[in-house]
Amino acid sequence: MSSAGEHKQEFIFRGIAVSPGVVHGKAYLLSRLEPEIPSYPISSDQVDSEIARFEDAIMTTRQQIANLRDQVSQKLSEIEAQIFDAHLLVLEDKALIEETEGELRKSLYNIESCFNQISQRYIDFFSNLEDDYIKERANDIRDVTRRLLRNLAGENQPNLASLSEPGILIASDITPSEAALIDKNTVLAIITEHGGATGHAVIMARSMGIPAIVNLSKATSRIPSGCQVLVDGYEGTLVVNPTTDTLFRYGEIQVHKDSIRRIFLSELEHPAQTTDGHAVELLANIEDSEDVTRVNESGAEGIGLFRSEGLYLRSNDFPSEDEQFEEYVKVVRGMESRPVIIRTLDLGGDKVLSKAMVGLGENNPFMGFRAIRFCLKNKDVFKTQLRALLRASAEGNLKILYPMLSGVSELLEANRLLEESKDELRHRGENFNEKVEVGAMIEIPSAAQVAPELARHSDFFSIGTNDLTQYLLAVDRVNDEVAHLYQPAHPAVVRTIKQIIDAAKVANIPIGVCGEIAGETPYAALLLGLGLRELSITPPNLPEVRYILRRLALKDMEDLASNALQCGDPQEVQQLLDIFTRDKLDPLLKEAIGNLKAEE
Ligand code: PEP
Ligand code: MG
Repeated sequence: MSSAGEHKQEFIFRGIAVSPGVVHGKAYLLSRLEPEIPSYPISSDQVDSEIARFEDAIMTTRQQIANLRDQVSQKLSEIEAQIFDAHLLVLEDKALIEETEGELRKSLYNIESCFNQISQRYIDFFSNLEDDYIKERANDIRDVTRRLLRNLAGENQPNLASLSEPGILIASDITPSEAALIDKNTVLAIITEHGGATGHAVIMARSMGIPAIVNLSKATSRIPSGCQVLVDGYEGTLVVNPTTDTLFRYGEIQVHKDSIRRIFLSELEHPAQTTDGHAVELLANIEDSEDVTRVNESGAEGIGLFRSEGLYLRSNDFPSEDEQFEEYVKVVRGMESRPVIIRTLDLGGDKVLSKAMVGLGENNPFMGFRAIRFCLKNKDVFKTQLRALLRASAEGNLKILYPMLSGVSELLEANRLLEESKDELRHRGENFNEKVEVGAMIEIPSAAQVAPELARHSDFFSIGTNDLTQYLLAVDRVNDEVAHLYQPAHPAVVRTIKQIIDAAKVANIPIGVCGEIAGETPYAALLLGLGLRELSITPPNLPEVRYILRRLALKDMEDLASNALQCGDPQEVQQLLDIFTRDKLDPLLKEAIGNLKAEE
């Protein structure tokens, strides 16, 4: 058998497929291990050469940080690039450098061990201070210390923002703030050892159209950096050193998937309506104003969820009112008069903004200082965003959505701050939509229980099934140890969704779902059967959902839902979904493939 890497053996690994697509390229290992810190005595004649090594490493580090700064300034903006100025300042800190050299002369130990010792002292000092802003300096020193130690050891620096050439990123895990900086042109696919299907980094990969596999056990130790790998993001398979036969086979799979996709895309002009005439509103989930073009290409009728925290994570800071206004207005104008639901800041959980959360050390961040809880405590941050949103509301059909409400008092307090923000804008003579609609995300079980009360103070509901599932089942959405227990098909989830829909119906307010399951066809059918008529979906999945639901009768979906509501066990609901897929969805896909063959 001929092989791409001629005499290298092909290996196959399996993980969980979380973002579709087949790609092939060089593996790029993101090593997050702490750098090695060798420690050995030196003679006094070696002092000068150790200092020369130190000076070289400082120069290299300075150059790397300056390059990174340029990249971020071009990709994002000058303001965002300024975070690297703090890192450059560390390298100019005379005390740190002189104390290191002093320690070297005194102890006659190698430069790595002296530098690490002195910088640790500074890190400990800053970490123990009360002031959060000053504490942040400890992180700057830690980052620069790691980078410098790696340079002393001649190791490569991990850099997610952009790979030097297109490649497949292999990491133990990726944080949402790292994912926010990923360059779609160079990161062809993402493979991680940990993480669940609804972690925010995965959601970002999916919405950027980057294939991804999570839960690939020991990926960083089993896949050599620099080797050729093939990623199948449909099945969760990774092939190391693929043979030409394997590449050919997967090439055909991709061609086939592309053709099916073209069929799905050919229906965008047709209304999203079931065979028995029930219209469904299909909206898009986005993270960035740049996603608007892809939203338009996906045929969405608007934006059902703009996760605004992307703006904060990309800049690693709190953007100003004007910066936010520009971002929101871009989206609103890009969608013309179609609805744009912008969710207020949902930081916390797996989305950590070091500036905001430094020193918190929460044991259960998903249950902690997150989303609306953070905003109601940081009123200035929240009101800055509310003013930016209100100003953008003058430019189109913008609606505001509050995440992670646990009860009515938080909603009332958020609305009170919204009124204050309106007053401030009136005072400044700024335009905004006086009747801007305000929605509540229902994603915490307590909110589901008090949905009738929340509905009295909301213009609409949006069900966040990603969190609703994690909180109802007490299963951390990013912990791979319990990933098998994360079951959106659990009867508790299905029944709770129904309960929320009923509350919205009684209150006569619109309701949609914006969790990831809305983009999976069997679940989309279940949700429509439960009574939903609005689904907000990651753009790459939207054409398929439209194609399929145009060929289904609501009656069949209602039967599926009413059967699911009778189940007491997740396996029973899963079985119903599997049967529905086999009997109703698979034949539609087969028919699409048949039409495709007939056309060819
Ligand atoms: C959800 O929880 O379902 C949701 C859409 O929000 P996020 O995934 O950003 O928490
Ligand atoms: Mg959520």
